[in-house]
Amino acid sequence: MKKEYEHIFFDLDRTLWHFDENSKKVLNDIYNKFELNKSIRSVDCFISKYQEINENLWNLYRDDKVSKEELRWKRFGDTLKYFSLNDNKMAIEIGDYYIIYSPRQTLLFPNTIEVLDYLSKKYQMHIITNGFEEVQYTKLTKSGLLNYFDVIILSEKVGVKKPHPYIFKKAFLESGADAKNSIMIGDDLYADIYGAQRVKMDHVYFNYYNTPHNKKVQYEINCLRELYEIL
Ligand SMILES: [Mg+2]
Repeated sequence: MKKEYEHIFFDLDRTLWHFDENSKKVLNDIYNKFELNKSIRSVDCFISKYQEINENLWNLYRDDKVSKEELRWKRFGDTLKYFSLNDNKMAIEIGDYYIIYSPRQTLLFPNTIEVLDYLSKKYQMHIITNGFEEVQYTKLTKSGLLNYFDVIILSEKVGVKKPHPYIFKKAFLESGADAKNSIMIGDDLYADIYGAQRVKMDHVYFNYYNTPHNKKVQYEINCLRELYEIL
């Protein structure tokens, strides 16, 4: 029998909004617009190096070891530097371009809207995100997601990021939910799943790429439609 939840808390990036594909599209545009072909052999080399550097910097950002301002341009600065292009001015311009155009991309994971239509008839739904405040609303609006959600909890506003328990407690307070009648759905084993576990909230790990792991999770899905079996 399905458990009686009242509230669903979703992560946004890589859970509903197809971060990797949307990001790739803009990185492709950047490669062309800034004529990076003059220094970087192929767009794939540029993208994969950028992704590696960005991921490391994001982990530092999540642990408050690098500021948002620094993260924004340094991920491009370090990528360019790797390809022997020492140009911080260009890195800043690219960083600004990325922040403007990436949130305007609208690709969602397969069946996102269908699943949200189904869930919205049964539950109150909310977002808890560690993403930058000024871009998350653009993503939600442009991709047609905003109206599905009651409360949007942004780490920047709360002052701490997932998996800090305070951001979940703040989300409960603002939505009128509690850990017992709620479930968290997210793609990040640390931020979303460990975060939910710390406040004793049920959780679904969205493992779209079927990445092997050894963590204990309550539910694991690799397609959003699998939520029909749980919710
Ligand atoms: Mg995510």
